[in-house]
Amino acid sequence: MRTVDVIVLGAGMVGTSTALQLQRRGLDVALVDRRQPGEETSHGNAGIIERNGFLPPGFPGDAKFLLNIALGRWPGANYSLSAVMRLLPWLMAFRRHGSRTGVQRLAHAMNALEAYAAGEHRVLAEAAEALKYYRRTGAVHVYRTEAGFEATVAERHYARIFGVDYHELDDLDLNELEPYLTAEGCRGIFWPESESVSNPGAVTKAFARSLAEKGGEIMIGDARRLTRSHGGWAIATDKGPVRGRAVALCLGPWSMDILKGFGYRFPLAVKRGYHQHYKARAGAGLSRPVVDAEMGYVLAPMEKGIRLTTGIELAERDAAPTPVQVERAFRKAREIFPLTVPAEPGAWMGSRPCFPDSLPVLGAAPGESGLWLNFGHGHCGFTLGPVTGHILADLITGVPPVIDPAPLSPLRFL
Ligand SMILES: Cc1cc2nc3c(=O)[nH]c(=O)nc-3n(C[C@H](O)[C@H](O)[C@H](O)COP(=O)(O)OP(=O)(O)OC[C@H]3O[C@@H](n4cnc5c(N)ncnc54)[C@H](O)[C@@H]3O)c2cc1C
Repeated sequence: MRTVDVIVLGAGMVGTSTALQLQRRGLDVALVDRRQPGEETSHGNAGIIERNGFLPPGFPGDAKFLLNIALGRWPGANYSLSAVMRLLPWLMAFRRHGSRTGVQRLAHAMNALEAYAAGEHRVLAEAAEALKYYRRTGAVHVYRTEAGFEATVAERHYARIFGVDYHELDDLDLNELEPYLTAEGCRGIFWPESESVSNPGAVTKAFARSLAEKGGEIMIGDARRLTRSHGGWAIATDKGPVRGRAVALCLGPWSMDILKGFGYRFPLAVKRGYHQHYKARAGAGLSRPVVDAEMGYVLAPMEKGIRLTTGIELAERDAAPTPVQVERAFRKAREIFPLTVPAEPGAWMGSRPCFPDSLPVLGAAPGESGLWLNFGHGHCGFTLGPVTGHILADLITGVPPVIDPAPLSPLRFL
């Protein structure tokens, strides 16, 4: 039986980054997933490495807004009533964390993580020869109304406190940045410190390849078959059983499938999201992701075309896809950018793994020696994978962590 220092479960951006960070510290690592690396949530996102994600993602709470969603008038959200009913305790907790203190706590924790995020990406991407996917062109948020722009007052406030650069734009500035936007009368904010990639799945796969090239194991296996073995952990894989002195659980939206079996009750919910690639009118393009903030979708330039990613859908993780937001967002997107036809049939669907305080869980699993947790990165897992992987590798190897992990402690939910 192959024995390694750490078995990392889950080969999304969080798991591959965690595995690489452990390997960089000299540990022998096996990365186990039931699929090939980077084929789930980390494949389908908008590829933004955010520097302005200080605030909880907005969720419309008032009845008028919910009615508008139900009537299909707003593309930013969709919900299944039965899922909303089941998620009521989670939604109430999310609302509680929207208090002044909750927002302040989140802003400081996210700023600490995001300050390191792009740098950590760069270190791993350079070693994985994946820098070709990275763009340092920032991200731009478009506001169709003055009220929408004014609603960003808290975001701009925190940016000033943390010294994060941003530029307020009028429609002429927007057109200077992105000449193919129809932005007349719009306002905007340019976040130059955000970065983006042209293929998030390819980046995740490149990270996994880099792990294998340096002696790490990539294995196919079902995390639900994890067992205790001789004071460590073992799991069956396509390459035979593997034993690890420790396990790092990085299973994103599937994390609770395994942790429930160990008696944990972390309040993880999923917010589903979709993407579809579109062609643009000949000659038109974007140099950076464009967030149509009031409409709740993103246009991200990717290798396969312009990737339109949708906002949130509250529905059961494993229920059949209901990609109604894609068509709604497409109609809105055509008002500001010359998209033409889909570049592929059908939309992709993924699930953001979300905690009510909008922070991941990271640290030792209480009561289970050698079990480490790194999951629940919500809307920012592509951004945060490399930095939370760094912190977890510090904790596992007993090095003082690069950032204080206290706000991310699993104990906050137990
Ligand atoms: C539409 C959309 C847009 C987004 N845009 C952005 C963005 O621009 N920037 C950003 O930072 N974040 C974004 N996100 C969020 C981000 O994609 C996620 O937070 C992130 O991908 C989560 O990574 P992960 O590694 O935790 O999960 P995943 O990438 O889902 O990885 C989990 C892995 O676990 C594996 N697995 C599951 N069950 C088992 C099992 N039983 N046994 C073995 N393996 C198993 C899966 O196969 C998978 O590979 C977006 C999300 C969506 C849906």
